Amino acid sequence: MITGVRPTGFLTIGNYLGAIKPLLESAEDGTAVFVADLHGLTDADPSTVAKYRLEVVRDYLALGVDSSRFYLYLQSAIGRETALCASYLSPLMSVAELLRVPTLKDKVKGGGPESANVALLNYPILMAADIFLQQASLVPVGEDQLAHLEVARVLATRFNRLYGHDGSRVLIEPKPLALKSLRILSLNGEGKMSKSNPAGAIFLTDSSAVVSKKIKSAVTALPGEMNPNLESLFLIGTLLSENDETRTKFEEFMTNHLAGEKVMGYFKNLLIEVVNRFLDLFQRERKLYSNEDILEILEEGKDKAREKARSVLSDMERAMGF
Ligand code: ATP
Ligand code: MG
Repeated sequence: MITGVRPTGFLTIGNYLGAIKPLLESAEDGTAVFVADLHGLTDADPSTVAKYRLEVVRDYLALGVDSSRFYLYLQSAIGRETALCASYLSPLMSVAELLRVPTLKDKVKGGGPESANVALLNYPILMAADIFLQQASLVPVGEDQLAHLEVARVLATRFNRLYGHDGSRVLIEPKPLALKSLRILSLNGEGKMSKSNPAGAIFLTDSSAVVSKKIKSAVTALPGEMNPNLESLFLIGTLLSENDETRTKFEEFMTNHLAGEKVMGYFKNLLIEVVNRFLDLFQRERKLYSNEDILEILEEGKDKAREKARSVLSDMERAMGF
């Protein structure tokens, strides 16, 4: 298995609940966890990416993605191998096919092709290279990434058909591991919670005062009514609850709210308490990792990632006769 995250900011509880928690629940030992700093360059400032790449690793470690079960590395640490692999894959796909990838189509719709850079166009190919180089057969993805994974499957099939002698498969066709699609919404009602929309996000590094302020001003629904924003807050509360008793309290608040009672103030106070308890534990854990620890873990991860990558690359080159 392989999974990656773009170092474009501190992680949010959306990243944790939507990607990291399910990963910890389903990942096999030996899963590759990488910081997609080259992917970060698609739309983030290079110095921002450089600033956050160690922080994201620290977040992962503190959340339980530990280096005895997983190998963690920076994508740029095997950047040359990744770029070379992407070069070998690129001729196998047409520009028209890439333009049909929904994520790109959405961005192009905004400002036309003028506004979409080539990194965005190449994103699925680079992602395919990440997957192939670590010989991953299973990729946990949210629905937003399914189309990208399909590109990787197509590329593997084409490469094997074109260069696999007597039916041998040089590249593994990766399958998606569908995660329970879970979308945490932005607290201020603007789409999904994202690192890049800080106003509506709860960061794992936020102080209790900041969390309290953000939740107090979060969008909810009128008594007797339900909407996606309130549902999302309820989801955060129940998923972060430490025990059934707390979960039951959240459910009772919802029942009373739907019956027309004014309970949002109490609901929010409980939510603040639950979120802050979770963050407090996380933040204490986070302090245990020094930069030296992190660099050492990344160095080990790089060795493993690079060894695999080089072996796959030489298989590809042998098959291509290049
Ligand atoms: P950015 O704003 O830079 O795109 P992001 O918060 O969307 O940041 P990504 O690095 O794009 O984070 O995604 C990391 C992982 O977190 C992905 O697996 C993605 O599906 C998941 N994820 C991101 N936001 C949410 C959310 N609001 N709810 C659930 N999962 C999410
Ligand atoms: Mg995103």
